[in-house]
Amino acid sequence: MSDGAAGSHSGVERRGLMFVLSSPSGAGKTTLSRMLVEQMPGLQMSVSATTRPMRPGEVEGRDYYFVDRPKFDKMVGAGEFLEWANVFDNRYGTPRAPVEAALAAGRDVLFDIDWQGTQQLRSRAGSDVVSVFILPPSVQALEHRLHTRAQDSHEVIRGRMKKAGDEMSHFDAYDYIVVNDNIGVAFESVRSILRAEQLKRERQVGLDAFVRGMRQQLEG
Ligand code: 5GP
Repeated sequence: MSDGAAGSHSGVERRGLMFVLSSPSGAGKTTLSRMLVEQMPGLQMSVSATTRPMRPGEVEGRDYYFVDRPKFDKMVGAGEFLEWANVFDNRYGTPRAPVEAALAAGRDVLFDIDWQGTQQLRSRAGSDVVSVFILPPSVQALEHRLHTRAQDSHEVIRGRMKKAGDEMSHFDAYDYIVVNDNIGVAFESVRSILRAEQLKRERQVGLDAFVRGMRQQLEG
């Protein structure tokens, strides 16, 4: 893909990266993910499979692939997941094939997965993974967001508040931390991280030949 990294006429291609956003529920990660996909060309969202019930407003194939437990376990057995984990008593997994196809085509892939999945991706894909942890500005803000979202019952929200503490404790395994106090500012931070990571020298394939060619012309 020529995305202006080293210039679109250079023959320099870019190796796709795996961009992971994690956070406790209610920290704004889903909103940030949607904004990123809308505004960053060539960024593709990984759609996970889950055994949890569909929430109002969710769309099959856009938000998740909703599958039952036997189907999920069959997919695990067939090696169809790049990673999978139990989260809130349900199973969530990242289908392997679309991710591999996107990366092979030089596109970047965005993952909205928990810390367990991030760890598995990191151990499989190493430096191709860039991870960002989103923190809420306060417990009050987190609670407020979970209630205004109002997609879950009160018991579910209470459970999520409790689990938010556990999830947050894994912040130190991430490359970048963004506190989401203001969605516009947080988006700008996440977008800048992605852009800077795209421009890393080791992700730009063919730079040697590009620079050699220019030097030959300059010396010629
Ligand atoms: P929710 O049910 O609110 O959509 O998601 C609950 C949690 O599961 C979130 O923290 C989300 O990041 C995580 N999650 C969603 N998809 C996956 C996945 O494919 N793998 C893993 N490990 N976690 C996921």
